[in-house]
Amino acid sequence: MIDLSKFLQSAIKCLTPYVPGEQPKERNYIKLNTNENPFPPSKRAIERACEEISRSNLYPPLDGGELRLKIAELYGLKKDETAITNGSDEALNFIFKAFCTGSETVFADITYGFYSVFAGLNGAKYREIPLKDDFTLDPSDYIGINKNIFIANPNAPTGLAISIENINEIAKSNPNNIVVIDEAYVDFGGESALNILRKHQNLIVVRTFSKSRSLAGARIGYVFADPSIIDDLYRVIYSTNPYNLSRTNIAAGIGAIEDEEYTRANCEEVKSIREDTYEKLVNLGFEALHSSTNFIFAKPPIMGGKEYYEALRKEGILVRHFNSPRISEYVRISIGTRKQMDELIKTTVKLLNERR
Ligand code: PMP
Repeated sequence: MIDLSKFLQSAIKCLTPYVPGEQPKERNYIKLNTNENPFPPSKRAIERACEEISRSNLYPPLDGGELRLKIAELYGLKKDETAITNGSDEALNFIFKAFCTGSETVFADITYGFYSVFAGLNGAKYREIPLKDDFTLDPSDYIGINKNIFIANPNAPTGLAISIENINEIAKSNPNNIVVIDEAYVDFGGESALNILRKHQNLIVVRTFSKSRSLAGARIGYVFADPSIIDDLYRVIYSTNPYNLSRTNIAAGIGAIEDEEYTRANCEEVKSIREDTYEKLVNLGFEALHSSTNFIFAKPPIMGGKEYYEALRKEGILVRHFNSPRISEYVRISIGTRKQMDELIKTTVKLLNERR
């Protein structure tokens, strides 16, 4: 037998791949573990995608075609300030590949777990900057740091946001580095850095259709930045997988943009359910962070984070638990429908009573 691992590049061998929340097949769980939107995609998105599938004998347009134009238009930007990617994960990976191998990159110690994985994959040196004890980010840690910067705003898994003034200062004080603002959850409450995009040529805003537009399965991300940065990103896209979005993804995305009212209404509903759930959790003795996202990061009373996660799982409810030291007593609960959240609260009351 040959040891096949000898064929693997050592840099890849050393990687610890990202661990996504589980997508179970064996049981009908209430799924509150991957920050998906509980509402279906817009009917328009579904219609568009169904119609387009019949043209799948043809390759898709190279740069997202009409979707690139529509998304730029929606946010008042130009096509050459916009890139379309296969999920925002692809955008983040390509940003690391294109811009982060020269100088060091920094991001928070508690943030989206893929940043360190993409850094490793692309051979980018990085350093994690600890959030404060209350899980807020101290902007002064990033001002004039002279490194590439990735900030999820609002942050995951904490749900906390920083102000646009802070981002402005951070971008202004690091003119020789890129500052990436990952706005995956911004439609649920944060302030967007788009308003200051044209003030800073080093600012890159990354977004997704996965959360607010209920299209996690369609894999559509988008990037806004200076045309020269977008051009550089397209060099990577065209050198990797020029057809990075299928015809049906593109069509679904266009359909979703044509139905922005549906997206806005769903975001409002998610926010309202989030606030109700927050209040109920706090009344039950949870320490919960004020969320600007479609999830709540909370520490249960009486039991530890892992015990609560495991007990909920046995009861058919999935939430996300992270086994890392600073946050192991917490769980991240995605906002589901009212019915799903009622079930979560009812089950939580039962679990707490069993332990009193
Ligand atoms: N950024 C953050 C902060 C996220 O939580 C996620 C979702 N896991 C992503 C980016 C990637 O989302 P997608 O690839 O589905 O666009």
